[in-house]
Amino acid sequence: MERASLPRRLFWTAFTAWHSRHEHTLPFWPPERLRVLQDRRARAIVRHAYRTVPFYRRTIDGLGLSLDDFRGADDLARLPAVTTDDYARDSDSFRSTAYRGRFTFEAFTSGTTGHARVIHFDAACLFRCVAARHRHRVVATAFTGRAFGYSEVMAGSALTLARRLHEFQAANSWFPRRADYRRAWMLSFGNPAERIAELNQIRPDVLRGYGSFIGLLYRWAYQHDLPIHRPKLVWHGGDTLAEADRVLIEEHYGVPALAGYQTTEALVIAHQCERREGFHIAPDHVVVRVLDGQGLPVGPGGSGEILVSNLINRATVLLNYRLGDIVTLAAGPCPCGRTTPTLARIEGRADDYVVHPDGTLLHSMTAIGKLQLVPGVLQHQLVQEELKRFVVRIVLRPGADPAVVRLGDDAGWFDGARGERRVGGRIAVLAQVELAGTAVTAASVHLESHGDPAQRAAQMDALLDAIDAYDPRAPVVIGGDLNTFSLGLAAISDREAVATALRADPERWRRPERHEPLFALASERGYEWRAANLLGEPTHRHETESGSARGQLKLDWLLARGLAASAPAVIDAAHPVTGAALSDHEAVAATISLAR
Ligand SMILES: [Zn+2]
Repeated sequence: MERASLPRRLFWTAFTAWHSRHEHTLPFWPPERLRVLQDRRARAIVRHAYRTVPFYRRTIDGLGLSLDDFRGADDLARLPAVTTDDYARDSDSFRSTAYRGRFTFEAFTSGTTGHARVIHFDAACLFRCVAARHRHRVVATAFTGRAFGYSEVMAGSALTLARRLHEFQAANSWFPRRADYRRAWMLSFGNPAERIAELNQIRPDVLRGYGSFIGLLYRWAYQHDLPIHRPKLVWHGGDTLAEADRVLIEEHYGVPALAGYQTTEALVIAHQCERREGFHIAPDHVVVRVLDGQGLPVGPGGSGEILVSNLINRATVLLNYRLGDIVTLAAGPCPCGRTTPTLARIEGRADDYVVHPDGTLLHSMTAIGKLQLVPGVLQHQLVQEELKRFVVRIVLRPGADPAVVRLGDDAGWFDGARGERRVGGRIAVLAQVELAGTAVTAASVHLESHGDPAQRAAQMDALLDAIDAYDPRAPVVIGGDLNTFSLGLAAISDREAVATALRADPERWRRPERHEPLFALASERGYEWRAANLLGEPTHRHETESGSARGQLKLDWLLARGLAASAPAVIDAAHPVTGAALSDHEAVAATISLAR
């Protein structure tokens, strides 16, 4: 970026210094004083928008309102909410005609809708945001021990907004070196091991970047047992740091993680304080409204979608802009003494939620978050393609790592109509363990209970295919609940059908093998089960008046290929003292050794 003339640079330096004068105290002002400032800025931005921004001129006239109807921040609620799609469709009409032909800084957002959007910023807005950074620095100082002169690594790409803003600031202003901090840049993609090595070399006091990327780095280091630098502070924003990653960084590595909340549409929204309990909103930069599913404002402690009005940017004016994030308002004031309104939590993108058929939102982390704790799982993603159709994507560590096998696409569970609430269909998990120097594939599987013998055989076939694709040569042991009822679900629920079936074969519950084609199929494909299971011994347990008792069904099995099995056993899943069932299935066991 070309350097501006010295007078121009000194002008913006003085401008920033002037706008920084309240930065240390403003978050602690009496609420009434903040309110007066916010109301004044809300009136000014509406006035500016009405005069120079086509969308707002049209909208205010169309609603039959006049500028006198906008006396303060609350009156912004009279204006319609603007969605990212609204903006993408007609972004030109949100641009101020006052900045046509003048310099504006262009920021790009990709968003999830696939529409790239450009937001224009005027220079005064950008330097007011530079000034507002001091507010955050006050907090960072609590961790770095000093306000200036510390080193910081920013992880991003050359196009990352923070980096482009810094270049803009450097080209258009002049700040004495000692009133600044030392910056270095690092890419936020590519090989994690290389990024970790880079970080270990730079050894910054502060690591800044996207929460998802910083989380990935520390998770990678942890899972691969790599040494990783521990800065004094991890400072993340842009997207959410997963809770499991935050715990890893803070508790395992002992590095405090501080979050900021900003978006391309509003460069300053809120930031955490030293207590890291909530996000203090910058009321001089934005007006925040939080609305529930019916579009009504929520009270303290309530959650809903956040709408942001940017009071500072005059080049592109966005009022009541729907960022797509779900947030929770703080129930009371923060003990740090700041008086600014506070968000207790930023729950994440509205896109991070799956919609239940009854309309409630479940966070995707609730559904699949535990996958993150499975060794070998580096990244995961849940996509709700339709109301009842989900795709889970998992990135695994390379090598013979655990793998997940989908055993069918039967996701018709989610609405509870089948008596259970589940996401997706049955799966199996594959991993390798070493047995006397030989890698052995172990498969844990749970076949469908609400199906019939043919469906279970098809699932077994799919599992055996997946095992061959995983490692065609390794010996295999498969264990799990195969749900071998010997009958289909419809027949089991029909008393007469059960009676007829039991007359034909009274042993069918305990010896389901000849009624379940999956056994013949496994034999054909080289698997053995006779030596690995106590044949005829049920594995199902149910509660009784005096405790629990073994039932009649044999549902759980071990199968092996290329291995020798002996000493099969069924181990009671009953509490040794009370006799209460610890599970509705017994454990099955066998001694497995390499076949000679
Ligand atoms: Zn606080």
